[in-house]
Amino acid sequence: MSDWRHYTDQHRYAYFSMEIGLTNEIPTYSGGLGVLAGDTIKSAADLRLPMVAVTLLSRKGYFQQSFNQEGWQVEEPVVWKPEEFMELLPGKTLVTIEGRDVKIQSWLYRVKSPTGGEIPVLFLDTDIPGNLPEDRAITDQLYGGDQVYRLKQEIVLGIGGARLLQVLGFQVRKYHMNEGHASFLTLELLNHHRRPVEDTWDERDSWNTRRVQELCVFTTHTPVEAGHDRFPYEMIERVMGEVVPFSLLHELAGAKELNMTLLALNLSHFVNGVAKKHGEVSKALFPGFEIHAITNGVHPFTWTSPYMMALFDDYLPGWANEPELLVRVDNIPDAEVWDAHCGAKAYLFQYIEEATGVHLDPDVLTIGFARRAAAYKRANMIFTDPERLLAISGGKLQLVFAGKAHPRDELGKRLIQDIRSYVDKFGDRLRIVYLPNYNMDVAASLIPGVDVWLNNPLRPLEASGTSGMKAALNGVPNFSVLDGWWIEGHIEGVTGWSIGPPPTETSTEVNHSDEDVLDLYRKLENVIMPLFYNDRAGWIRVMKNAIGKNAYYFNTHVMMRRYVTDAYLR
Ligand SMILES: *Cc1c(COP(=O)(O)O)cnc(C)c1O
Repeated sequence: MSDWRHYTDQHRYAYFSMEIGLTNEIPTYSGGLGVLAGDTIKSAADLRLPMVAVTLLSRKGYFQQSFNQEGWQVEEPVVWKPEEFMELLPGKTLVTIEGRDVKIQSWLYRVKSPTGGEIPVLFLDTDIPGNLPEDRAITDQLYGGDQVYRLKQEIVLGIGGARLLQVLGFQVRKYHMNEGHASFLTLELLNHHRRPVEDTWDERDSWNTRRVQELCVFTTHTPVEAGHDRFPYEMIERVMGEVVPFSLLHELAGAKELNMTLLALNLSHFVNGVAKKHGEVSKALFPGFEIHAITNGVHPFTWTSPYMMALFDDYLPGWANEPELLVRVDNIPDAEVWDAHCGAKAYLFQYIEEATGVHLDPDVLTIGFARRAAAYKRANMIFTDPERLLAISGGKLQLVFAGKAHPRDELGKRLIQDIRSYVDKFGDRLRIVYLPNYNMDVAASLIPGVDVWLNNPLRPLEASGTSGMKAALNGVPNFSVLDGWWIEGHIEGVTGWSIGPPPTETSTEVNHSDEDVLDLYRKLENVIMPLFYNDRAGWIRVMKNAIGKNAYYFNTHVMMRRYVTDAYLR
C-alpha cells in the first residue's frame, strides 16, 4: 500500500479544486464544478498525463436531499468512510490559522485508467488529534459554515495543499487553480520563490511575482461579480496573518478587500474561461487581463449509458479513449440507436417508479431538467403559463426534474417547492416527477433516459454547463437558451434547438424571460413534438447529430489536450 512514492518520480501538473466528483460514493462535490474536476482527472489518467490533484476531504460530504410534506427540501449529512476508498499518507504539514498551528494530513485516492495511466488525488484532512475541535472540523463540510469557515478552508486548500505536496516529495511543473478557491497557493509560492534581498534593488523587488506567474494557470468559472470569493482584510489579518506583506497583497488581490479571483488573475501566466462566451464575459468583468477560453467537456466513458456504450463498442471501437471517433456515428443503423435509447429510457422509468411510485409512459416525449437549483437556472420557467403548457402537452408530454438547492438558498428551495406543487396540480394531465437527491448516479440514469434535455438559464450566467454534453453523448438533443457551451454546439434543428434570441450581450445581463418562455412553448409545440411523433427518422437524425457533431468534441479528452498545449506547455 505504500507504493505511492513512485508518483513523485515524475514532475506533475498539480490540479487544485475545492470540490472533486470522481464517483458517487465519494460525496466531495456539489455540482458541475466538482464533476468537471473529476472528469478532468479521469481524462488526464486516460491520456497518461503527469498530474496530481488536491482537494478537501469534506468528511460530511455536501448533503443528502429529501422532502417534507410541504415539498420543502430537507438536508442530512452524508455518512461515508474515507478509509474504504483511500489510504492515509504518512506526511503532515501545518498552516497558521488564528495564530494556531493547524495540522493537515492527506488521503490518497488513485484514479486508474484502462490505458495504464494513473493520477493520485490527495484529499486534505484536518481531523487530527492535537488540533482543536473547531480546527478538526475545517475539512468537514463542502460550502458549509460562514465566511470565516470558508476562509479557513481556502487556507487549508491553497497554502496547506501546496505545502503538503512539497512534504510528500511531489515535484510540480505547473499549478492549475480550478476556480479561485485555491488562489492562496500563490502566496505560498511567493514565499518559496523569494529572491535573496541582497540580489535586488529594494525589498519590494525581492518578491518574484514573475516566477510565480510562470508556474500558475487559472481557470475562472464565475460570470458574475458577486460570485467571486472575497474577504475583508481585517478577517485576513485575524485568521491568516501576514503571509506576504499586506502592501503587496493589496496590489495583487485588491485594495479594499481580498478578491480571490483577482489574486489568481495577477499571479497566473495563463487564464481561461470555460466557454468562448464565458471568456468574453470574464474579460468584461476584469478589464486589462488577457483571458482565453477553453470550453469544458465531460468524460466519455463515465457519462455514456451502458446501452449506448454497447453500440459504440460495436461500431466505433476505441471511442472511449478517442472520442473523435464519434464523428462516424452515421455508421450505426438508425434502429439500433433508437433501441439503445429506448433501453436507457426504460431503465430510467423503472428507477423513477421505484424511487417515487410514479409510472411514466415510455411512448410519451419526456423532457429532462436537472442541475443545482440555483435561481439563475430558472428550473420552473416551463410553468410560467401552466394552462398553455397543459394545452401544448395534450397528454403527450412528461417532465422529469432533479436538483439540490444550497442549504442557505431559500430562493432555490422555493423554486423546487413550486415545481413539486405541479405534480399534484397537473396529476395525470401532465405527469411530472421531481427525483430527490440529484447526484452523479442519478445524473447517469436520468440524462440518457429522457428524450430532450432542457436548459433555460438567465444569460450570461451559465458559464459553460456540462449536463447538456452528457445528454449529447447519449444521443439526447439539447433544447437550450444560447449560453455557455451551447452557443458553440448549437446548429438549429440539426444538433438540437435554441430557446430565445441569439446571444449578443456580453457584460450586462439583459432579462429576456418573456421572449424565452414564448419561444420555449412555440418550439415545443410546432417543432419538437411534431418531429418526435410524426417523423421518427428525422428525430433519430438529430440524435445522431448530437453524438457526431456535439459529443465528439465537447469532452474532457479534447479539453485536456487544449489545456496541455495552450496552458501547461507555455
Ligand atoms: C453534470 C452534473 C452537474 C452539472 O450540470 P449543469 O447542467 O452544468 O449545471 C451538476 N450536478 C451533477 C450531479 C452532475 O452530474
